[in-house]
Amino acid sequence: MHSTTQHKYFDINFSLTRKRMKNIRLRVVAPKGEVKVSAPHRVQLSVVLDFVAEKQNWIRQHQAQIKDLMQAEPTPEPDLEPLRAAMKQRVSELLPVWEQRLQVKASGFGVRKMKTRWGSCNVRSKKIWLSLALAAKEPDLLEYVLVHELVHLLETGHNARFYGFMDEYMPDWREKHKRLNPRSRVL
Ligand SMILES: [Zn+2]
Repeated sequence: MHSTTQHKYFDINFSLTRKRMKNIRLRVVAPKGEVKVSAPHRVQLSVVLDFVAEKQNWIRQHQAQIKDLMQAEPTPEPDLEPLRAAMKQRVSELLPVWEQRLQVKASGFGVRKMKTRWGSCNVRSKKIWLSLALAAKEPDLLEYVLVHELVHLLETGHNARFYGFMDEYMPDWREKHKRLNPRSRVL
């Protein structure tokens, strides 16, 4: 038996579906960035609200990412085309190597200007987007973002399991992350 109700935590609206399950789960859903929470029947609403509060930064990041993706791609400036082509070439070399290592398969990738992120992965379509801004960064940082997005095909969330894969497959990812985001911890 499922029942869904609407709730609000400050500016975050979310639907809450009660199900037979063990843990609270939260998703941000494209194209509108709706927040969908599911929780076991026995968990009190106050506990659900605490859970949403804890995840609020993550929620806002994902909503920004979805908004970014949903905006139509502007006509590329001509001088960016060589950069984009070079980056695509590099990614097309790296992708099969990492797909093999991680035992995943992306449906494809694209390179475009992104406002808030270095990359994103649509886990449903398995398509990876990489920010054109990576073309101006050291080559191993492009590789790092690609690996991060591919690991999302193994684990969608930024949780212990996700970082466990990162540690396993790219043990120095934290150093790369710091170089790419000197002031922020967000990817
Ligand atoms: Zn991520």
